[in-house]
Amino acid sequence: MNNDVLDIAVEYMKGVGPKRAEVLNNAGIFTLQDLLEFRPRRYLDRSELKQIKDILPDEEATVIGTVISSQIIRRGKKRLIVRIEDGTGVLEGVWFQQADSFARVFKADQLVSFSGKVARYRTWQIAHPSFDIISDDREQLHTGQIIPIYPSGQEFKKVGLTSFSFRRIIHTALQKYGNSITETLPVHIVKQYRLYSRQDAYRQMHFPASKDTLYQVGRRFKYEELFYLQLLMALRKHFYAAPKSGLKIDIESEAYDQLIASLPFTLTNAQQRVMGEIRQDLASGYPMNRLVQGDVGSGKTIVGLLAMYMAISSGYQSALMAPTEILAQQHFFNITSLLSQEDIRVALLTGSMKAKEKREMHQRIADGEVDLVIGTHALIQEGVNFHNLGLTVIDEQHRFGVLQRGELISKGRTPHVLVMTATPIPRTLALTIYGDLDVSTIDELPPGRQSILTYWRTDNSLPQVHSFIRKQVNSGQQVYVVYPLVEESEKLDLKAATDSYQYLQKEVFPEFRLALLHGRLKMDEKEAVMQTFKAGETDILISTTVIEVGVDVANATIMLIEHAERFGLSQLHQLRGRVGRGSQQSYCVLSTPIEVNDVARQRMQVMVKTNNGFEIAEEDLRLRGSGEFFGTRQHGMPDLRYADLVHDQKIIQVARNDAFSMVKLDPHLRKTFHAPVRIHFKKQFADKFQMTNIA
Ligand code: ADP
Ligand code: MG
Repeated sequence: MNNDVLDIAVEYMKGVGPKRAEVLNNAGIFTLQDLLEFRPRRYLDRSELKQIKDILPDEEATVIGTVISSQIIRRGKKRLIVRIEDGTGVLEGVWFQQADSFARVFKADQLVSFSGKVARYRTWQIAHPSFDIISDDREQLHTGQIIPIYPSGQEFKKVGLTSFSFRRIIHTALQKYGNSITETLPVHIVKQYRLYSRQDAYRQMHFPASKDTLYQVGRRFKYEELFYLQLLMALRKHFYAAPKSGLKIDIESEAYDQLIASLPFTLTNAQQRVMGEIRQDLASGYPMNRLVQGDVGSGKTIVGLLAMYMAISSGYQSALMAPTEILAQQHFFNITSLLSQEDIRVALLTGSMKAKEKREMHQRIADGEVDLVIGTHALIQEGVNFHNLGLTVIDEQHRFGVLQRGELISKGRTPHVLVMTATPIPRTLALTIYGDLDVSTIDELPPGRQSILTYWRTDNSLPQVHSFIRKQVNSGQQVYVVYPLVEESEKLDLKAATDSYQYLQKEVFPEFRLALLHGRLKMDEKEAVMQTFKAGETDILISTTVIEVGVDVANATIMLIEHAERFGLSQLHQLRGRVGRGSQQSYCVLSTPIEVNDVARQRMQVMVKTNNGFEIAEEDLRLRGSGEFFGTRQHGMPDLRYADLVHDQKIIQVARNDAFSMVKLDPHLRKTFHAPVRIHFKKQFADKFQMTNIA
């Protein structure tokens, strides 16, 4: 059916026998395509090399030369000496360790490179140089101005897969199959942006004519990668958001206005704007697929609630999904009280309910006896069937994967979906990550918020921190003390939190009321702890990170985070967002050991410097790189090998426009000139898109 040369197994390449094939397979290289995608780890540019005659003592240098001798010296300390010459002088590489095994690597007449710190003895010498075999004989295969150097682990070396052999294997493969590699981009796009053809891009990647060609190779593959990513988004949007359902939700303004008027506060401008966008979606007759992003405390809950209210008023059920049980409970209490005047049946459904209770709840949901269901993952993991689900709101989307979002969506016929996240990201990024969603941003905090003062303190100043806490509690404030919870060692962390709780209660704050909250408590226990804290009957809440998201107690004004160095930036920001929710000045203290590594230090500094979630997200990106930041797996994103979501925003924009116009013009990719795109898309995204939609 498909005879793409790039699918030919790597073991059929000249120079790859069964042994090498096995090693390559273990490294994830199965096909010719994988082999061609095996990028040089760096390139040696001859113009940046040193000639031996120009070497200065003690400098770091890379030298290329021909091996003139290789011998093991047994007199004195046993060592291997490999002498090379480059026409201007002689240099020795010396190995004191593993002399015998390195001796096997070098042969006379090989062209090699040595890098390292050069010392002057009898002759120039580098001890234990990092080296590459560039060519095995004087044939000087493909050693132009720029020489590709391939990654070469121990496993590779054992079967002779050096840079030299990779170059030879890849060169031969390109000679044989290069002309049969098919183009993946439409011709007009390749022309328009003057991109390398796919064939040329692979050739230049491995055997570049100059440094500039490498830049062009990058440009070509980045565009390709981003174009297909955006095409996936465009197709999903086209087919999944097609008008499938008659779920038109358009409530009378009067009822809506009344509810707004009954709220204990006025909506901010940003909240009003986002509500406007949501109302339009709901009334459009198309299923809504909208992401609301807004910093911690910007007031997303009410937006979700109003949307659910609209759905319910139009006769549909709504579901609100939260990442933790504590947050689900809190939503339940808040929403019940906000809706106390309304005739709406609200129910809580969580994983820790008894089987019988759950079964009864499922029944009521299925019978339509419940209007609004608030719950945790249990909502989607177990067989919940809604009577007529009209809207699903997913809170703190960054805690769920895209997959789960999909699962919930498929529960109803085609319910509207609103996802909310407090990990704000720049707009172009949001478009990429959530490319099939529309994005609304709440870029304004409710009035009267004071910015939280953040301090970074080392463990030895905890006594001062404690006396500060004492002062605040004495004046009526409440406090969180948070301990990190790392899943792998939940027990240990729990112990840390439990021990500290006992220590703080007995030794430090015997006069105050302390409570302990962690994930292992039963649902009603958690509920009790949270309720007492909310009611102001607990002064200090010791907690694991279960309070990370959503928890909202306005009178709590101090957040002490222990072992802050163990948290990521966005998590620290989330945690800090638990305070600063009322009109009082709030404080966040980050406590770390005296010695922390550089990245942790920078994280602390960012936290001290800013309260702005967007800035923090950007710093987080900078410190971690986009791949890790977004946890691409979690977001269901294909891995990006070439493009960088932060630095390649311009290409993202262009590729996005191109992909979306293509789908608009030819959604089934039927046109002849889209054939290469259709074929490549099917090959790449078989698991991510229902291919029956495409010709
Ligand atoms: P988040 O966006 O982090 O989910 P919440 O929805 O929990 O924020 O809101 C934070 C707090 O701000 C809540 O106590 C909420 O009642 C309050 N709030 C929300 N909107 C407003 C507003 N427009 N004016 C005043 N307070 C508001
Ligand atoms: Mg929230």
